[in-house]
Amino acid sequence: MNADVVIVGSGIAGLTAGAILSKNGKKVVIVEKQPAPGGALRQFRRNRISFDVGFHYTGGLGSGEILDIIWKYCDVLPKLSVLPLTPGGYDHFEFFKTSQPIHGYFSYERFAEELKTLFPAEKQGIDVYFSTIRQICNDVPFYKTDLPLTPFLRGYKSNPRSLAEFLDSHLKDPRLKSVLAAPAFLYGVPIQQASLEIHALVAHGYYSGAYTVAGGGQAIVDAFISTLERNGVQLITDAHVTSLQSANGAVTGVNIEGHEEIFCDQVIYTGHPATMVEMVPQSVFRPAYKTRLRELENSLSMFAVFCKGEHSLNGSEGPANYYLLPDEGDVLPKDANTPHNLRPMMMTGSQGHPCDPLQQDQNGIILLRLGYWKDTERFAAAGTDRRSPEYADFKMSVGREMIAKAEQRWGDICGHLEPLAVGTPLTFRDELVAPNGCAYGAMHCLGQYNPDVRTRMPGLYLSGQSTLMTGVVGSSISGLVGAGEILGLESLWNGVTK
Ligand SMILES: Cc1cc2nc3c(=O)[nH]c(=O)nc-3n(C[C@H](O)[C@H](O)[C@H](O)COP(=O)(O)OP(=O)(O)OC[C@H]3O[C@@H](n4cnc5c(N)ncnc54)[C@H](O)[C@@H]3O)c2cc1C
Repeated sequence: MNADVVIVGSGIAGLTAGAILSKNGKKVVIVEKQPAPGGALRQFRRNRISFDVGFHYTGGLGSGEILDIIWKYCDVLPKLSVLPLTPGGYDHFEFFKTSQPIHGYFSYERFAEELKTLFPAEKQGIDVYFSTIRQICNDVPFYKTDLPLTPFLRGYKSNPRSLAEFLDSHLKDPRLKSVLAAPAFLYGVPIQQASLEIHALVAHGYYSGAYTVAGGGQAIVDAFISTLERNGVQLITDAHVTSLQSANGAVTGVNIEGHEEIFCDQVIYTGHPATMVEMVPQSVFRPAYKTRLRELENSLSMFAVFCKGEHSLNGSEGPANYYLLPDEGDVLPKDANTPHNLRPMMMTGSQGHPCDPLQQDQNGIILLRLGYWKDTERFAAAGTDRRSPEYADFKMSVGREMIAKAEQRWGDICGHLEPLAVGTPLTFRDELVAPNGCAYGAMHCLGQYNPDVRTRMPGLYLSGQSTLMTGVVGSSISGLVGAGEILGLESLWNGVTK
């Protein structure tokens, strides 16, 4: 089989790259290891409830914002019903020791106003925080789309300030710091390691307005698949890419377990960069580059309990998500020594899939809590089909404890929670092909240079959340950049944004 471009992985990065390349006349094949496309956006069903795994809400979908324009360009947006969580939308923040809730509005102005009312002595620091976040994003083309893309991608130097240091230098109250650092939950980096810039890139999206999509992540996947089919893209699922073929150091094709080889000049690899290193012939990359990719530090993982609630969280006028945060401001503790019951946690509703005739129950509720690879490492040796009874017990006990905490805090909202499935760092490792079960790919943190989309192997590009930015926004942007490296970066950027 022949193609112009093979895309490895059908998460949002691969789907975006595929839609853009095929729109521009390229013959594209997408190869996906799992039986169904979508990566972390896939849903699964238990007891007639559809559960989202990696999509609960996002920024960037307001009119003229980055996801809005990319997905419009991909001819996907008209197939989606975007649901703004504004006006009036907010996250509900509570603390372990004190229960006075704080509303995290999806609006710079309203959120600042809420915080200044609750922390009047910190007015100045609050202003500095929000104006700094805005200022950082003002220089970033993803948020100011009339800026050119190439100078930013080739020359961006992040300031070596940690988020913790910045918060400590402007604010005193630890609960205030916790709330402002809460977006760290959305990129999985402890605040001592998080750079202020990466925090700003993620937080700005939410402070500018948060959104979901009717039908959740699966609706996004379905919309992309329908566009890709129309554009003639071939999608091969249940197909594990095991190696890349090369001649004279450049890409010539991909090998897939149990399938025929695909010949192509260009490959966009959207899996974790560390897993790509073993796929290319030994001599292609310098040892230092290989070591750098193999040793990338990964973002944190999660525990997820998928439940049937007595009541539904969907469709209410109430908060989008319920967060339980540490009072001391250390939103994501650095290591697994922090006991499970003292780690931050969040409760959110499952979007379900409105077009699904089997979807009759809207009471899906998901509890998410920070997890570390060390939590489940001891169970990792056995294969997915041979997990030990101890692992089942461990999962049950973590799930029970998370449910007890959620019922105790938010029982008046969700009622009794019946657990239907529990995910652990081990689950995410296996289901998302994510080393150490990392929820957000390689960590975007101080002291770590995440790999560029371009590699030294002609024809091979990296894409996905480990490269530029995390989350659905970051991965979709990285898909655009991957396609842009093939089509011409600035001309594509102009076509997309103008
Ligand atoms: C629990 C959880 C909650 C989250 N919540 C949110 C949220 O609310 N909002 C938000 O914006 N983001 C959220 N995220 C993050 C978001 O889901 C991801 O950033 C994004 O979906 C990643 O997309 P991707 O395309 O980079 O990678 P993925 O979706 O991981 O896709 C990569 C694909 O490549 C495939 N693959 C890998 N290697 C191979 C190979 N060798 N051969 C073939 N196929 C291969 C994998 O099977 C996978 O399908 C969450 C993540 C998790 C885990």
